[in-house]
Amino acid sequence: MLNKQHIIDRFISYVIIDTESDPKSETTPSTKKQWDLANKLVEELKSIGLQDVTIDDNAYIMATLPSNVDHDVPTIGFISHFDTTPDFTGANVKPQIIESYDGKDIILNAEEDIVLSPDYFDDLLLYVGQTLITTDGTTLLGADDKAGITEIVSAMEYLVQHPEIKHGRIRVGFTPDEEIGRGAHKFDVEKFGASWAYTMDGSQIGELEYENFNAAGAVVKVKGKIVHPGYAKGKMVNSMYIATEFMNSLPRLETPEHTEGYEGFFHLYSIEGEVEETVLEYIIRDHDRQHFEARKEVMVKLTNDINEQYEREVVTIEIKDQYFNMKEKVEPVMHIVDIAEEAMKQVGIKPLIKAIRGGTDGSQLSYMGLPCPNIFAGGHNFHGRYEYVPVESMLKATEVICKIAELTAQKK
Ligand SMILES: [Zn+2]
Repeated sequence: MLNKQHIIDRFISYVIIDTESDPKSETTPSTKKQWDLANKLVEELKSIGLQDVTIDDNAYIMATLPSNVDHDVPTIGFISHFDTTPDFTGANVKPQIIESYDGKDIILNAEEDIVLSPDYFDDLLLYVGQTLITTDGTTLLGADDKAGITEIVSAMEYLVQHPEIKHGRIRVGFTPDEEIGRGAHKFDVEKFGASWAYTMDGSQIGELEYENFNAAGAVVKVKGKIVHPGYAKGKMVNSMYIATEFMNSLPRLETPEHTEGYEGFFHLYSIEGEVEETVLEYIIRDHDRQHFEARKEVMVKLTNDINEQYEREVVTIEIKDQYFNMKEKVEPVMHIVDIAEEAMKQVGIKPLIKAIRGGTDGSQLSYMGLPCPNIFAGGHNFHGRYEYVPVESMLKATEVICKIAELTAQKK
């Protein structure tokens, strides 16, 4: 049996260390303080008995749990990130432990009247009777993704202590700067040397994800002509009106606020305009690769149509791909999802398989040659003061990791 208090203590020892990343920094890790936890993790991985524990100049940590079987088993990996988001402060985290949660409001901070309430966050009611770890209302918690790290370290420790559980070679990877989109950038897939891996970075217990958006960004520039308004007849071209034509020609209901599930969208997130020039910035998202390409074509065609109408090049568009749906890379090796699903069922969890409406480090890693679905780490309300994690979910995630290791060794 996993020791609950041990897992709570481990998690708290991580979240009290501030590891906020910084998108404006160009170094890796983006903030020096991420080294504080990284160095601690290196020592801990050594002390629980892992081998080849390494940390490189960019603070990427890798370690190995050697195989304990004679036959050939593919090497698998488990990955999480130790930075926290710059969206909300992660300094001076003071976790609070709520034993056997009663389903009522949780006063996070009486002084500042900050309440974590199931009236607003109804998923709290999934965890009545369980032990919750919350913030004190003034910081984030950092369960994203220190819950993932806790689970991976605890599972490796458990497997070291229980050699009767048979498994192949397992690699552990901890990265900096995931929250600023750079977690996979300097990840050495070859050195990691796994056939596939799982990021332990999802939310609610049971989550298992292997589909994410295809993503691109588009910058639309509209050229106008400024002339004195009193003498403008037949001469002035107001770029803002032409930009409005562009905006209104895209389907109004294919936007984030009108879509869910597998529905893609165009999202206009910035307009800057004067008569002389207007710049529109969009992101384009779609799970389906063909629909994704078609969306990009729609924007190009619209650009051409407007230019034709004005008989000169008034609009230019620049589209850049950002990331792709990992489904393309995972589907050919679907057994890696099946193993995770089976592992969840065997430890008594109902798998919740759904498509991510965003990207993960796993999607980048999948395109770098390491197929990498995402598994729940257990926390809720990431990136803010209402973040919390049920300890029972962390225990279950730890069991899932051990079970995946075991099932992988049994296949073939
Ligand atoms: Zn995360």
